[in-house]
Amino acid sequence: MPSRIQQADVLVAADLEQKVRNRITSLSYLPTTIAVAMKSVELGKDPDAEPADYARIIEADSSLSSKVLALANSPWFGIRNKVTTVKMAVNLLGLGTVRTMAISYCVAGLHNELKLAPEESRMFWESALCKAVAAKQFAHMYDEKTADEAFIGGMFQDFAIPVMYSLAKEEVTAILQDGTISSQIQIQRERELFHLDHSEIGRILAQKLELPDCFVDAVAFHHNHDQLTDLMENEVVGEAVYVASLFPHVLNVWNQTDAETVCAYLDERFANTENSSAGFLEAVQKESNSIYRYFENSEAPANRLPELMVEAAREQADNTTHLVRTVQQLMQEAASMGLEMHQLIQNQNQLEDKASRDPLTGVLNRDGFFSRADELLTKAARYQLPMAIIYADIDKFKPINDTLGHEFGDRALKAVASHMSECVRQHDLIGRLGGDEFALLLYDCKEPEARQIARKILDAVAAQVIGRGKRNLRITTSMGLLAVQPSDEVRPCDLLLRVADKLMYRAKQAGGNRTECRVV
Ligand code: GH3
Ligand code: MG
Repeated sequence: MPSRIQQADVLVAADLEQKVRNRITSLSYLPTTIAVAMKSVELGKDPDAEPADYARIIEADSSLSSKVLALANSPWFGIRNKVTTVKMAVNLLGLGTVRTMAISYCVAGLHNELKLAPEESRMFWESALCKAVAAKQFAHMYDEKTADEAFIGGMFQDFAIPVMYSLAKEEVTAILQDGTISSQIQIQRERELFHLDHSEIGRILAQKLELPDCFVDAVAFHHNHDQLTDLMENEVVGEAVYVASLFPHVLNVWNQTDAETVCAYLDERFANTENSSAGFLEAVQKESNSIYRYFENSEAPANRLPELMVEAAREQADNTTHLVRTVQQLMQEAASMGLEMHQLIQNQNQLEDKASRDPLTGVLNRDGFFSRADELLTKAARYQLPMAIIYADIDKFKPINDTLGHEFGDRALKAVASHMSECVRQHDLIGRLGGDEFALLLYDCKEPEARQIARKILDAVAAQVIGRGKRNLRITTSMGLLAVQPSDEVRPCDLLLRVADKLMYRAKQAGGNRTECRVV
């Protein structure tokens, strides 16, 4: 029997879990800084990418543009004429530096949306940067091509912590600033506070931001070495992300056990090579400092770069301006071709979407539901999330058709589908399996929440009046709700639906307008 205090804690945790989920849902768009970072990584893979391509991407975010310009104009570069365009700045700084800046800056957009104060944002940014650099340096040793991906994996891995912090500043600060506890204990404390730790919340955030799957996994499993290296397409990136996770959650607090863990891990990994954990840490420190300076003009290093290099950079800029001019026309043609391509892809997507929808109600049709449900069930197994599946059937629907006519029957079907859409969350699935039968798949949904959703649908449908005047009628539904507990086993959709169908039948036999539930 939990004590009263424990019960109170549980209540607070449930409350905070809901708040953090709502906060993430309310992030309405991908912050431009993250989009810019993603595009920079893409450009990094393209050997033909031009400085102008980078400039265009950077210009999408005004604050990053001004940082890039400020760096180009900083005393570090000793340029006499002011650099006024991003393109010039890109030429001067070099593509590698600009890409690093774009990626380093990407979490800042998120911090802005969370309305963090500059010093708060800086605290999280510094540790994200250190982790990103650690991951990058590690990946670079084994496979240079993976360095950017590892860099982002490190940068993002803790990006849920500022979200948690924005909702419970005192409590989260107490966890982060306690140097006597290891990061594993910090994670336990997070769970006590939010029901979820920052990897789990990070996974929800990464999916909300629609990051590519490799980054979702990097965030979701960053403290789990085996899962990371198993799941990540590139094992080097997986290990690099894990190495980054051994670095502290905030830089000013490094727990003794954690420090020993990272050194022990690295020394073992570097055994029989010329590398050492001390050398690695030093390199991480050095690169973090230099990136840090990109954003902090006041800390320009004392030794300026030689005049010669500046001249070379300017010459290169002139050449590139010529080149860009001649290439511009080709680019424009390519852009309009790109636009056509975009249109084609969009049309294709629309066609595919149409093929998977039920034309009467607009929800998924049977095939559409099954294929999307199988995808979600696979994801649920991967992240060990709870799910629920509902089988719903309108009560005594045939008599509605028979007495009021088909048109009223159609109206009833549409009304039921529309109430279902209003009661579920964005990522849930609704399908019309045929006739008056519907199925719902509630993703990342625990039993009590699923029961609530089922209740809301039952009530909304029962309150709906179909028809007008004397031809007024109310309809009800019967539902079978199967709550599926987290498991790493992928459950086949048809099997779950069969069980839910049986439950629905029991609800009908018991008089209809009710839900029969079971947990598996
Ligand atoms: P129960 O309470 O046992 O579910 O009884 P019921 O009358 O709802 O029985 P059943 O599920 O067999 O009835 C389904 C009816 O749905 C039969 C068919 O006439 C009707 N139906 C199927 N598709 C459509 C459609 O697209 N529009 C309309 N208006 N009716 C449809
Ligand atoms: Mg029926």
